[in-house]
Amino acid sequence: MMDFHCHLDLYPGAREVYREAAQRNEFTWLVTTSPRAFAATSRALEAYPAVLITPGLHPEIAHERASELDLLLEQIAGAKGVGEVGLDGSPRFKPHYDVQRRIFRAVIARCAELGGRTLSIHSRRAVRDVLADLERYPNFGTAVLHWFSGSSAELKAAAARGCWFSVGPAMCASASGRALAAAMPRDRVVPESDGPFAKIEGKLVMPWSARQTAEALSPLWGLSRNATIDTITRNGRKLVRLIEKT
Ligand code: MN
Repeated sequence: MMDFHCHLDLYPGAREVYREAAQRNEFTWLVTTSPRAFAATSRALEAYPAVLITPGLHPEIAHERASELDLLLEQIAGAKGVGEVGLDGSPRFKPHYDVQRRIFRAVIARCAELGGRTLSIHSRRAVRDVLADLERYPNFGTAVLHWFSGSSAELKAAAARGCWFSVGPAMCASASGRALAAAMPRDRVVPESDGPFAKIEGKLVMPWSARQTAEALSPLWGLSRNATIDTITRNGRKLVRLIEKT
């Protein structure tokens, strides 16, 4: 199984969850929320070849961590991927949108300067701006839009721009999430958990939940459960190769 977006370091009992994910999953992408958290997590957790830990600066805390931007730009040089980064235009975080935007643009510019990186991107209520910023630096690398929640027109625009999408069980729990997942390009959808933030019926979604994602996608795509698992696994392996090429 695979997980292309999880906050493994934030689970209760993180060390055990981390070890179990490393054993059960073919690939796990641990995204961090701040440059200092990336440094601490990389130090605290044993390195496993099948777990990718990446530096990020979550848009929800951009205004509190803006002073760590230089550190982030340094860390990106030594990383194959970047995340979690992005923009959040929802009412609660809109007041800090300018800071978020400055950071996101600097990150994209840095990725382009370094020859491209794979990014796990948050785009809540900000898809148009995320795409516009990516457009400014065509050599930034590969964008993976996580838990996409834009309009169907925005989905089309993101797909046309070559974006990938990471989809999890929690996203598939809502009708709007399912409608978007049904319309995604099937060769660019990979599984995510977004745990421990994502919950299903009060239970944390775990990093080995790709089968649950496949079960949710199967009726939406009109494919058998096994064919759906095969599809997202094949996509995942392709994306891992893109990340490895960095
Ligand atoms: Mn997340």
